[in-house]
Amino acid sequence: MAIVVAVLLAAAGLAVPAAGFSRDGTTSCGQQVKFAFDGPGWIVGSNDTRPTLRTYIDDWEIEWNYNAASRVLDVKESFGELVLQWKPDTHFSASGHAGDGNTLAVRHSCSSVHINEDNLPPSYPPPSDWYADMGRVLQHEIGHGFGFDHTGSGDSHEPSATPVMSTCSAGGFPGSSARHVAQDDYQAGQYAHGTLNPETMTANVGFNRGTSYYQTNSGTSWFTGSGGVYWKPDTSGGGYFFQTTSVSESAGDSFDAKINWRRTVNGLSGTVWVYMYARGVTYSGAGCAATNFNSGVNQNGTRDETIWYLKKWKGVWNNGGVTSALAGLETLSASMTSAFVDIQIRARHDMRYNSGSYIPLLFDNVRIRER
Ligand SMILES: [Zn+2]
Ligand SMILES: [Zn+2]
Repeated sequence: MAIVVAVLLAAAGLAVPAAGFSRDGTTSCGQQVKFAFDGPGWIVGSNDTRPTLRTYIDDWEIEWNYNAASRVLDVKESFGELVLQWKPDTHFSASGHAGDGNTLAVRHSCSSVHINEDNLPPSYPPPSDWYADMGRVLQHEIGHGFGFDHTGSGDSHEPSATPVMSTCSAGGFPGSSARHVAQDDYQAGQYAHGTLNPETMTANVGFNRGTSYYQTNSGTSWFTGSGGVYWKPDTSGGGYFFQTTSVSESAGDSFDAKINWRRTVNGLSGTVWVYMYARGVTYSGAGCAATNFNSGVNQNGTRDETIWYLKKWKGVWNNGGVTSALAGLETLSASMTSAFVDIQIRARHDMRYNSGSYIPLLFDNVRIRER
């Protein structure tokens, strides 16, 4: 069975996860994750840290499902589940905690998140770097509220994004600000939720979020527009754009990949292609204070990758006319031999105006599913 990699490792300093977000969309804490700030520490004099911290928690909210009909992840500020409280350092060496005096924060089941008072703001009003760190700590614990476990810093394939559910490499506190709610975090939600799109398993909803998960090779260009991203090749017709997703699986599992495209302007005939590349990944190394290791995503370990192998490709010819709707372009299923795999989808085209220069072609989301 394939599992989008987003997964497990434990942590110098950050909390113990619990399984939770089931494929029918409920969490072990209920339908939504509810949180509330409680107790002293959030407000000192006229300084209320909550408004800024809410903006970080709300970062989990920005992702919508495939039809934008409901949120993939839902966080509500309301008493009922995760009560956020500051606790003295000694609290974290008590029984019932996996951590010790160095622990930043712990999520207790569905009841509470305890944060170490060692990390209260150094001054009031709190400096911006404190918010950047504490905001990520809260995101991380809320992520556990969804049932997400730990992931590796190298497992998010958007530029310069360390997943918020990664642990050791964040460097503790300060240093947590290195993390962002990233591709890998959303993959965890999409996989767990299972209702994101008809394919049930997707690389991302990246085009809903602009180009952040996508990359181009040199000389090509794109812009975001209605319905997705417009991409065109370089001036000599070369180049492609691509998106990479980590999956774990049983060796021998097969995956499909799909991207939709549309031609919005007339011109010369041409072809659009999609390619599925894959590379094997191995993890090694001990990790940091690791417990709860599930899928081989090892935060401090070495991530070794093979070269990319072309698994499947497909091309569709267009007679030069505008197409009225997005059309699917799907690779055939390809079997993977490694236990951990990065799947990279590349797309390109050679369609041109009558003038001969290349047109931008509209694309929407990359989708990957296990066959
Ligand atoms: Zn954690
Ligand atoms: Zn506690």
